[in-house]
Amino acid sequence: MWRHRTTRRPGAEPAGRFREHLRLGRKGLAIGIDIGGTKVAAGVVDAEGRILKEARRSTPGNDPRAVEQVIVELVEELGQGHRIWSVGIGAAGWMDLDGATVLFSPHLAWRNEPLRENLQRLLRRPVLLTNDADAAGWAEWRFGAGRGEDRLVCITLGTGIGGAMVMDGRLERGRFGVAGEFGHQIIQPGGHRCECGNRGCWEQYASGNALGREARELAAANSPMAQELLKAVGGRVGDITGVTVTELAKAGDPTARELLEDVGEWLGLGLANLAAALDPGTFVIGGGLCDAGELLVGPARTAFARNLTGRGFRPAARIELAALGPNAGLIGAADLSRVSSRMRS
Ligand SMILES: [Zn+2]
Repeated sequence: MWRHRTTRRPGAEPAGRFREHLRLGRKGLAIGIDIGGTKVAAGVVDAEGRILKEARRSTPGNDPRAVEQVIVELVEELGQGHRIWSVGIGAAGWMDLDGATVLFSPHLAWRNEPLRENLQRLLRRPVLLTNDADAAGWAEWRFGAGRGEDRLVCITLGTGIGGAMVMDGRLERGRFGVAGEFGHQIIQPGGHRCECGNRGCWEQYASGNALGREARELAAANSPMAQELLKAVGGRVGDITGVTVTELAKAGDPTARELLEDVGEWLGLGLANLAAALDPGTFVIGGGLCDAGELLVGPARTAFARNLTGRGFRPAARIELAALGPNAGLIGAADLSRVSSRMRS
């Protein structure tokens, strides 16, 4: 739960300004910033989750100071002409429960970085740090496909698998703030090696990367089934990615559809495991791989129903595609910063 102690330091913010934030916050605007491995996406978001203005930058290497500088530039640029209440930052990695410190971020050099304090000093506004998958899940619950659901699990399928849970209107983040790492449930003991150090993690089977790897293996085996895949990348097997497969599948290529079906089945199997543990009412499936739509989620639903514990004797969760697209992360980060800063001001 976003339960915050005040982190306002004497002199950092005049009290009057904070009162102003409170007054504006009910309907106020927030800036959400989604820091990815290659790009930083930012936007001004209103209290209904609409993006009023957007800006983008490349991620400036992995120097924490350079990343802070980009954040400051984006807030200055986006803040022109808008009264901004708070700033939410979403990034891959683990944030502490207070949203103040980045414990670890895989793509950036942040290790126990007190980023919020640095940024609040520079931006003179309340700042919240959040995991990118948590931000996307929150946005889908507030404004997207998970609206109205009391027990929501949101899965983000990209290079890996991100997870978030919104339970009874609050983001469930575990005891230490690092819950929801569903991508590292071991689904195939002794299977593909994962960057987390283990073998057989779910994200090695049900992510965009897994889809690309399977397609490259098929093409490298000189299978005639892979001819369309190879044609799409000019014969360079190494250039085949999950996006190549998704595009071909949408165009009707049977091999690409088969590859997506396999990934969808792994997805459904993992969701059945999560249902056994968490019993949500809805799973929302987002992230880049969702461009495949029903070609992915259809087989996932079938595998989910086939593997669900106690099937036939219990209600089953719905599996829905995310509604907000690639901006879910920045929308959620903005909204969480507004909600939580009102609680701690
Ligand atoms: Zn893993």
